[in-house]
Amino acid sequence: MTLRRVGDPRAVRAAIVDATLTDGARVDVLLEGEQILGVGPGAGAQAESRLDAAGGLLLPTYVDTHVHLDKALIRDQLVEHDGTLQGAIGAIHAAKRAYDVEDVRRRARAVIESSVLTGTTRLRSHVDVDTVGGLVPLEGVLAAARDCAGIAEVQVIAFPQEGILRDRGAGDLMVAAMENGATVVGGMPHWETGEDDQREHVRLCFEIAARFDADVDMHVDETDDGSVRTLAMVVEETERRGWQGRVTVGHVCSLSAADDAYAGTVIAGCLRAGITVVSNPVTNLVIQGRADRGLVRRGTTRVRELIAAGVPVAFGQDCVKDGFYPFGRGDMLEVALVSAHAAHLATVDEQHLALAAVTTVPAAAWRLGPAYGVALGARADLQLYAATNWPEVMRLQDPPRQVWFRGRPVARTTVTRELLQG
Ligand SMILES: [Zn+2]
Repeated sequence: MTLRRVGDPRAVRAAIVDATLTDGARVDVLLEGEQILGVGPGAGAQAESRLDAAGGLLLPTYVDTHVHLDKALIRDQLVEHDGTLQGAIGAIHAAKRAYDVEDVRRRARAVIESSVLTGTTRLRSHVDVDTVGGLVPLEGVLAAARDCAGIAEVQVIAFPQEGILRDRGAGDLMVAAMENGATVVGGMPHWETGEDDQREHVRLCFEIAARFDADVDMHVDETDDGSVRTLAMVVEETERRGWQGRVTVGHVCSLSAADDAYAGTVIAGCLRAGITVVSNPVTNLVIQGRADRGLVRRGTTRVRELIAAGVPVAFGQDCVKDGFYPFGRGDMLEVALVSAHAAHLATVDEQHLALAAVTTVPAAAWRLGPAYGVALGARADLQLYAATNWPEVMRLQDPPRQVWFRGRPVARTTVTRELLQG
């Protein structure tokens, strides 16, 4: 057992007794204030209160590093469309024009709360910044983040959903968003018309990032067209600006449709530039490949090849019952399961890659370092399951029994099932 004094000596000590870690070790975890003070057999002996984990799996809480809180839960207000990305963006316009801050705040808050109940306490939300909705979506999501500060941590990305060159005025609004609470610069270069504008879009995003010393997290190549090259543009700009380790790219669907030579080169570039890839299979399985007949592409990027090359791959929820995707509830356990199906992650080791994709990989992209994890000195953002190992947790899909944020219990779920005949 390792034991070290950290934090306020007057803080209450609580213990989670007899929990199982991902490596199979059975331990007690001692919490003091918002930190983990001890991990090991017998570490709970000094606690003032104890929770018996009964051998259940104890994980750090999930990090959903790609979600759209501003447009969540608007599905019922929209007219049905053709199901494509273009159709969804258009269908949302009327709703986006009519948003008010309180409406966005209420919907975003509902998704944050639903996420916490299912074990996520860190969310990075893209928020539309464009001439359709102005800064209303940003104000609403920031208000929800403040409302929920006691149960979760929310980062906000200034996301030019309508383009920057196609939507004149969006660039100035992105700067205003960064001045008013957004902390990460988004982008969507493939949405521009032609390679010159795509390259200029990438350049403008990095220029804003340099001005605010901010990380970059862009939507990249969310299309079936294997000839688009904006991922290569992002790699190039990352290296030119010295932004290695500070860039995340989301979706990257068309990499699967691209030729192997390009894929190999650009994957090596991502590794060199320290870029994290976020795949969002739950949404892209619904959106992509709609024009295909016969063998239908499903929009999941080259997850296994990226991981094999050493590129960090995270999974995100992306959408929650909006114009793009009719399902979702901020449940990263569900996201891990669907993504494992989409990316052919089936062996026990591969299933643990799905776990890493919703925990340690996004935590590294956030540069949380030793503050994250079930480890001595880490912040006590934890979740406890009834099942005793990750493959069973993922297979059974029961929510965590209890969730802790900054050392405080913030959610509890009891599942009761009874066979009435037998
Ligand atoms: Zn997205």
